[in-house]
Amino acid sequence: MAPGVPTHLTMSAIRRGISNGIPTTFQDDKTIQFNCQTYHKWMSNFGQIRIQFDMSEGPEVKRTAARLHEALAGETIQSIDAHHKKILAALAETPDALLGRKILRVHSLGKHILFDLDNGSHLHNHLLMFGSWRIYARRAKIEPDPRIMEIVCTQKHRAVLRGGSVFELLPAGTLEKHPRITKLGPDVLGETFDEKRALKNFKKHPDVEIGVALLDQEIVAGIGNYLKSEILFVTQTNPRALIRELSDTRLREMIRAARAVTLYSFENASFTIPDEIRARVQETGMSPLTVGRRHYVFRRTNKPCWNCGTPIRQYRQGAGKGRITYYCPNCQA
Ligand SMILES: [Zn+2]
Repeated sequence: MAPGVPTHLTMSAIRRGISNGIPTTFQDDKTIQFNCQTYHKWMSNFGQIRIQFDMSEGPEVKRTAARLHEALAGETIQSIDAHHKKILAALAETPDALLGRKILRVHSLGKHILFDLDNGSHLHNHLLMFGSWRIYARRAKIEPDPRIMEIVCTQKHRAVLRGGSVFELLPAGTLEKHPRITKLGPDVLGETFDEKRALKNFKKHPDVEIGVALLDQEIVAGIGNYLKSEILFVTQTNPRALIRELSDTRLREMIRAARAVTLYSFENASFTIPDEIRARVQETGMSPLTVGRRHYVFRRTNKPCWNCGTPIRQYRQGAGKGRITYYCPNCQA
């Protein structure tokens, strides 16, 4: 355990708490990934233990879609234990549109997950802030959990969706007209990535701060809050710079970095720092539970910048309460 952590808050205590309904996955490196709305309550229960909290951004959503694809592609939907109103309505009105349909492919588009069915329709899912999928063998026991929203049952598997999220059936021909999906900018993790379109999209918002624009899914799809801070750091950009203050060259650099950082995160378990800095993290003796060890600046407030040693700072940007941006005041002046 990290120094200073009360001794009663052992890993087994955390696991016991988790088995009482907090969905997590333990990774090989013992990091605990949380995907739950009771995070803050648990944070207060755990006192000083800081736990990596992964909300799903492009890389996490793409990995989730890949796991769903691996388990479900080629299988037939036998039943759906549904809670979402739109799925309940579809099951009541047109059950054949779902039941007995073969899942051809599961894939991601920005932060959206799509199940392509053999009748040309799609199941559309968005995990929002706290949704998560877990796949079980058909006969495995699923513990009761009030956050279970859907159980999609096939011949060999049950895919369980937990947490607040979007789940709906899009009949054939309607995906192309979906109000949110059609407005998405180029997918930063897409097989192809249209840099010119991304640049054009940014330039439609000259008076928006770059730290706000990077989260706009209609400009570029798939970037969330940790990627935003990391992309700004890697390109040494002041998060408050307005788009009109950045040259086309700078914006292109930003767009290329957005794709590179996000692909790296997808391929490296959501790490955005390279091996060399990971080695330096290990040298510091930092606990594997310490947040921010995966990133240059995200959740590293007051910790020294890996580049220049200046303490990392944070502020909120954007409408309403805004979202927290982490940055180095020296590297990103
Ligand atoms: Zn710095």
